[in-house]
This record gives sequence, structure tokens and C-alpha cells, in this order.
Amino acid sequence: MLVIGLLLANVLLSQKAAQPQPQVVDPGAPGRPPSDAVVLFDGKDVSAWVTRDGSPTRCIVEDGAMVCRTGVGDIFSKEKFRSAQIHLEFAIPSMPGKKGQMRGNSGVYIHGRYEIQILDSYQNPTYPMGACGALYGQSPPLVNASRPPQEWQSYDIVFRAPQCDAAGVLKEHGTLTLLHNGVLVQDHVRILDTRKGCAEGRIGEPGPLMFQDHSGFKDAPDTTMKFRNVWFRRLEEPAR
Ligand code: MG
Repeated sequence: MLVIGLLLANVLLSQKAAQPQPQVVDPGAPGRPPSDAVVLFDGKDVSAWVTRDGSPTRCIVEDGAMVCRTGVGDIFSKEKFRSAQIHLEFAIPSMPGKKGQMRGNSGVYIHGRYEIQILDSYQNPTYPMGACGALYGQSPPLVNASRPPQEWQSYDIVFRAPQCDAAGVLKEHGTLTLLHNGVLVQDHVRILDTRKGCAEGRIGEPGPLMFQDHSGFKDAPDTTMKFRNVWFRRLEEPAR
């Protein structure tokens, strides 16, 4: 065993010189993003966000939060990415008179396309594939890790973009891993997509982050969402 151990140590030492050291990243702290993050909202201004038509968002800053009232429209990050680690914090309004999807409802759309549901799922049952932490319509959360409305909650997302080949055929599905308030709710889930999307350039390309304005529902005329500490880190793509 000792001989094998020494041999292994020698192999590892000889590899050590050849392998580059991992890049140093200051990990930050609660409320302070890692040093290699692209910051989308730092509590000061909303200039990183636009509406669907490209005009400045009408969300406002209050007490370090980005406040988006019903009617301001979906908001899109100007920055685009393919695969990414994404962090955001959100507070859902208290709407005790409403039930199911009509209670506090928003959503994080990766690439403006795949919705991770934001919903007040605290003591508010709904269809599981539409609950908070669901990949909407595809995958329910593993558990319900919701905090009560008005409390700050967090999403930590690892999104791997779908891969298209040169012929416009889907080569690898996208995947999603999601922690809700630090609890694993989506575990490397395959994201379903149509094969057509690659050929049309609709998937596999860099895209924005989008936050949903769940407006247009007369049963929920006022859903004021708050967001803070929004950032992402670009992830390298695997070799094709
Ligand atoms: Mg939604």
C-alpha cells in the first residue's frame, strides 16, 4: 500500500506543474457578489434592465430594492449569457385574499424562455408544476422551501444552456439546478425544448434574464414584487 501511495503522490506531483491553478475568485458575502460576477442590481440603480421594447424599465429603487409594480411590464437584463450561475433575492407581496396562481406571482425566465416560477407558495397549494421553485410546466420543486410573503427569499440557479450542432440539431438539452432559500429544489433537471428551436436560432444562443410582470389578471391587479442582489457568473461551455 505504501508503495502505491508513493507512486500516486509522484503522479499527482508531476501533474501539478502542468495543470493551471484555478482562477482566484473573492467569494463575496451575503449581499456582496463574487468578484467575477456580472451585477444586474446592486441596490442603487435599475439601468441594467429594459422592457420588452428596449425602453428603460419603470421599476424603481426603494430602500435598496428594485420595486416592480403590476403594469410596468416584464423586465429584461441588457446583459446576455449562455450558461450561468445566477443569484437573486425576491420578496413577494402579501395577498391573503387570493389563492393559487392569483396570489403573489412572478417568475424568473432564463433566456426570456424557461420560467422558474416565483409564487407565494407559503400555505398556498396550487398545481405542483406551477409552485414556487417549479420549472414551470415541466418539473415541480422537490420540496416546498417557501418563506412567508414579504420576507426575503433567494434563488441560486445553475443553468446549462442547450447545445445545438452546426446543422441546427439539438445536441444536448439544457439543464437546471436550483436552490430555493439554500434548499435544493431542482437537481440537474433536463429542460425540454423542441428540436426546431436550434434550427431557428431560438435556443442555444445567448439570452437575457427576465423577471415576469404577472399582470393582465383582473383577480390580481396589484402584485408589487421586490428584487435585490441580482448577479450572474458566466460558465464555460463544454467542448463541442
Ligand atoms: Mg409566474
